[in-house]
Amino acid sequence: MNNREKSAKLFEEAQKYIPGGVNSPVRACGAVNDIPRFITKADGKYIYDADGNRYTDYIGSWGPMILGNNHPEILKAVQQRIPLGLTYGAATEIETEMAKMLCRLVPSLEKVRMVTSGTEATMSAIRAARGYTGRDKVIKFEGCYHGHHDSLLVKAGSGLMQKGSKPDSAGVTEGTAKDTLLAVFNDIDSVERLFEENKNQVAALIIEPVAANMGVVAPEPGFLKELRKICTDEGAVLIFDEVITGFRLALGGAQSLYDVTADLSTFGKIIGGGMPVGAYGGKKEIMDRVAPLGSVYQAGTLSGNPVAMAAGLAQLKYLKEHPEVYTHINELGDRLFNGIKEITEVHGKKYTVNHVGSIGSLFFTDSKVSNFVQAKTSDLDKFAQYYRHMLSNGQYIAPAQFEAVFISNAHKKEDIDETLNVIEEFFRN
Ligand SMILES: *Cc1c(COP(=O)(O)O)cnc(C)c1O
Repeated sequence: MNNREKSAKLFEEAQKYIPGGVNSPVRACGAVNDIPRFITKADGKYIYDADGNRYTDYIGSWGPMILGNNHPEILKAVQQRIPLGLTYGAATEIETEMAKMLCRLVPSLEKVRMVTSGTEATMSAIRAARGYTGRDKVIKFEGCYHGHHDSLLVKAGSGLMQKGSKPDSAGVTEGTAKDTLLAVFNDIDSVERLFEENKNQVAALIIEPVAANMGVVAPEPGFLKELRKICTDEGAVLIFDEVITGFRLALGGAQSLYDVTADLSTFGKIIGGGMPVGAYGGKKEIMDRVAPLGSVYQAGTLSGNPVAMAAGLAQLKYLKEHPEVYTHINELGDRLFNGIKEITEVHGKKYTVNHVGSIGSLFFTDSKVSNFVQAKTSDLDKFAQYYRHMLSNGQYIAPAQFEAVFISNAHKKEDIDETLNVIEEFFRN
């Protein structure tokens, strides 16, 4: 184990003042019986902790850092914007620039509203869908995570799947939970059944088009298209939560990759370039129900913050002008995840490796993983051992089986090969 003395001290101090010492639960590393590394800086493909350890960064702040840490174009945009003032709580031109960029990159967006997190984006999209349809119920999928607001915090995957915790949160009222209907990922029958049992009551169906919060799980061929059809037939709003997949799987998100048009979409992570930004948008007739045009209220003091917009825009512009980024990270994704599969096979394991482009997961289970129940068959103790081996050898991966590995444009073939060597060593021993 590499030195973690300073992180341990900082963690002790943090726990006195912050619940669990962290501002987001998964960072506490409880699921892998470890302590969090306190980070001091990050640059390119590397991230550094307080003890001076350097790691190859496969978290990338859970997705936003698709260009690697500290990208010069983003830094420059932020530095140029800062002297003009950090926030005004007023309309600015850069917000229109951002909205225009989003609407151009994602064809299903006719209008878009900026918020400050992915949670806010999905919360607001659900409200807009309810306001638009006049219906209450929402269908979500077991194991999909859409942030931490009440309506969607039911069987929500991600940090809620850590050992010892439940997939549901205390503090969510039964009244709220009863309007959240649970379907099974990749199981169209489960969706049809819910629509039948709740005729004319379903406002929206929300899904991560590629699930990335129960580990990475791809939609089976045709699944998303069938959802599109059912929602159209039933008059329900189809919401794609592209907080992770947006601008990662393709410039137009998973919806362009799978050629399905959502009614509303939600974004976060990458669109902020590392700043706290979220967005929701879609069909004009739905978005025009949002205040001040319509009666669906949603607001935010720091929404569309100019510095955050500068960072996000710089990242999106770079991605738009450099389509080779996607070729590169997708190739590295194939190299890493196919490489992992090969290593596990050579060592006589039938573990499942799922990946779509630059995100993926090694599941410590022989079962195929195409839904939440299958994901949960993973051996979490094995994963914890794997995690500690990876960290000890300079590979910064998420401290939980049910999170994705994120590849950035700063990674090179050689980094992937080095990581594969570390993984090989784990299976050899
Ligand atoms: C991270 C995430 C969210 C929540 O975004 P926050 O910015 O953490 O609130 C919502 N949906 C998905 C798919 C996510 O991965």
